Amino acid sequence: MTAQILDGKELSKKIKENLKLEVDKLKENGITPKLAVIMVGDNSASAVYVKNKSNACKKVGIEFEEFLLPTETTEDELIKLIEKLNANSNIDGILLQSPVPHHININRAFETILPSKDVDGFNAVNVGNLTIGRDCFVSCTPYGVMRMLEEYNIDIAGKTAVVIGRSNIVGKPMLQCLLSKDATVTICHSKTKNLEEVVSKADIVIAAIGKPNFVTGNMIKEGAVVIDVGINRLEDGKLCGDVNYEEASSKASYITPVPGGVGPMTVAMLVENVVKAAKQRKQ
Ligand code: NDP
Repeated sequence: MTAQILDGKELSKKIKENLKLEVDKLKENGITPKLAVIMVGDNSASAVYVKNKSNACKKVGIEFEEFLLPTETTEDELIKLIEKLNANSNIDGILLQSPVPHHININRAFETILPSKDVDGFNAVNVGNLTIGRDCFVSCTPYGVMRMLEEYNIDIAGKTAVVIGRSNIVGKPMLQCLLSKDATVTICHSKTKNLEEVVSKADIVIAAIGKPNFVTGNMIKEGAVVIDVGINRLEDGKLCGDVNYEEASSKASYITPVPGGVGPMTVAMLVENVVKAAKQRKQ
């Protein structure tokens, strides 16, 4: 079997074109959606992610303001800036790019962002609402994965899904999203025993580990759907995912490439969340 590629690049383009039409309508009603992005300290990977987000926002007509803070910024200074942005009615979304320097408690910062402006879905209110099935801002990466599965008409209900990785920003919300669509979900992490065996039973495999080529072909059930969230930079500068693409694609029914899979979907979902926040401002 050769897997069909889940083309996140193409799909995200389509989504952004539709979002542009919605932004045009909002502007006709006097509302220009605006996203504020805060980055603390120098981090070349973060700078690339922020640039991608900025380009995507600008393409659909969303205003984008960047706050680049020096590494020595204190937690209180960061909190004060977030509070200022919370109070600014022209700003619909606030995004704090992670990682931040170690002396800053990122969870306290996420908690300070108003839930109604938390377009990354990291605030505990949004996380809680996701868990109990209320409308909320869903973390952009799991949200992008779900949108991709939906657009490609991939059945989820009753399927066995295994998520590898339990981070607050990917693994855990991914579990909630799949569960809300009636999958039977298992989450694996670094302490999981017999991980290979667990993964090899899955109809849907989501890899979010941060280790190049961690998921090998022998872990993939014939016909499984394989979603590779990982973004790893190799020594030669090339990007690769957490899944051994060559091996997995010979067994999977569908697979996401890296780059061009989950990454662009994550950015598209951020744009969608900002548009949603702006619409709520209108109401
Ligand atoms: P984290 O480092 O926060 O989490 C990694 C998870 O993988 C942890 O739960 C960890 O387990 C688990 N893990 C690590 N080693 C093993 C192992 N040997 N066996 C089983 N589980 C293991 O990473 P993130 O969730 O933030 O990101 C994961 C990957 O996704 C990264 O490559 C990141 O760059 C990428 N990413 C991509 C995005 C996109 O848009 N495509 C967006 C966000 C992230 P434990 O909890 O036990 O330590």
